[in-house]
Amino acid sequence: MVTIDRSRLESLTRRELKRFGETHPTSRAMAERARASLFGGVPMPWMVRWPGGFPVFAREATGATVIDVDGNRYVDLCLGDTGAMTGHSPAAAVAAIQAQVGRGVTTMLPTEDAIWVGEEMTRRFGLPSWQFTLSATDANRAALRLARAVTGRSKILVFNYCYHGTVDETVAVLLPGGATGPRAGNLGPAVDPALTTKVVEFNDLVALEAALAERDVACVLAEPALTNVGIVLPDPSYHAALRDLTRRTGTLLLIDETHTFCAGPGGYTRAYGLEPDMLTIGKPIGSGIASGALGVSAAVAEQVGAMIAEDYSDTGGIGGTLAGNALSLAAIRATLSRVLTDDAFTHMIGLGERFTAGVEQGIRDSGLPWQVTRLGCRAEYQFRPTAPRTGAEAAASFDGELDQFMHLYALNRGILLTPFHMMALMSPATTAEDVDRHTAVFTEAIGELLAWHG
Ligand code: PMP
Repeated sequence: MVTIDRSRLESLTRRELKRFGETHPTSRAMAERARASLFGGVPMPWMVRWPGGFPVFAREATGATVIDVDGNRYVDLCLGDTGAMTGHSPAAAVAAIQAQVGRGVTTMLPTEDAIWVGEEMTRRFGLPSWQFTLSATDANRAALRLARAVTGRSKILVFNYCYHGTVDETVAVLLPGGATGPRAGNLGPAVDPALTTKVVEFNDLVALEAALAERDVACVLAEPALTNVGIVLPDPSYHAALRDLTRRTGTLLLIDETHTFCAGPGGYTRAYGLEPDMLTIGKPIGSGIASGALGVSAAVAEQVGAMIAEDYSDTGGIGGTLAGNALSLAAIRATLSRVLTDDAFTHMIGLGERFTAGVEQGIRDSGLPWQVTRLGCRAEYQFRPTAPRTGAEAAASFDGELDQFMHLYALNRGILLTPFHMMALMSPATTAEDVDRHTAVFTEAIGELLAWHG
């Protein structure tokens, strides 16, 4: 089997770090200045997760291109970790956003856009009743509350190595022996996640059945394919079994489409005919303007409706003053009507296939034991020979040194990959040339690693 020479990897990484430092002097200076006023030197902790030792500071981003403060230009395959799956500042959304900014951003009154968006969300995702938040995290928080209220059960179930935002109950991990523990890095958990959460491996129906049999789980919160530990696709009959088990045990099924929206205009749910009781989404639906949405079935809407005392509007623990504001809804309307259209998805998914074919070819030619998985317009390569079936399997293939080298090599040649793993996403603005550029750089990186060039 072809293996990587670790000392070669180390010396190549050293060379790339030097090159990165030389070509990013303004970013380096800004990173130093930022350390004085920003906690950790960045506005949010995950912004340090770039491979060059300091973050790249952005000057501007349009379409699928980012230009940094040193004038370096990148093909952006990270796309704000899906927040910019629309491409950066798509013209149709920008026009609608600019118009709405001048007409009032937030009034605490509904706008007609909200109705249009509700109708469109129903057309796309099937669920009949919608509410809006400012983030996917917040949509998930609201959904978990509704699930508990409706079922009278206290626990939720998630999959090992899931990510659903900064939702307390979900920052949990499966411990050996089946117990739940806090995920590494979980800061100051409100309560021990063991009290709120059951964790099972994705694709493990035996464990799922056992966990739901106790009938104390309000809902299963699931990405239909895991996308935050690399991509882990469901076994062919997994979703049918998940739906069957949740129905049989009176457990609600909450599908988080925030990333799997990449599967098509109605997300994985429509592409694969899922029938969730609740669905959440956020990130790109407002072209980057803070937006999130929560859809519920008629049965859940009716049950919640029957429970609502007048206090729900204020003290129900759901939403916030700016949630569903006029700007956010105008941005979602423009995004769904003009940017993330059926035609756009056809283009994006075609590029996802092109990206995957290019990476597959590079892996095949090299003989490296790596593989690539695609879901719609999102693709991810992993340092393991076969597609993972569980989050734990996917997590075990992480390789910090290789990860840093591949990200850095790409960055130094004008390509941004999603920082947390080897993921690439296509936008309506991404071109075949962008994808081919990645293929060339990826192949070159492998060639250097394996010393094809001496
Ligand atoms: N759900 C999923 C599946 C996600 O991947 C993420 C973020 N990566 C979230 C929810 C949370 O999104 P946000 O941070 O925008 O609230």
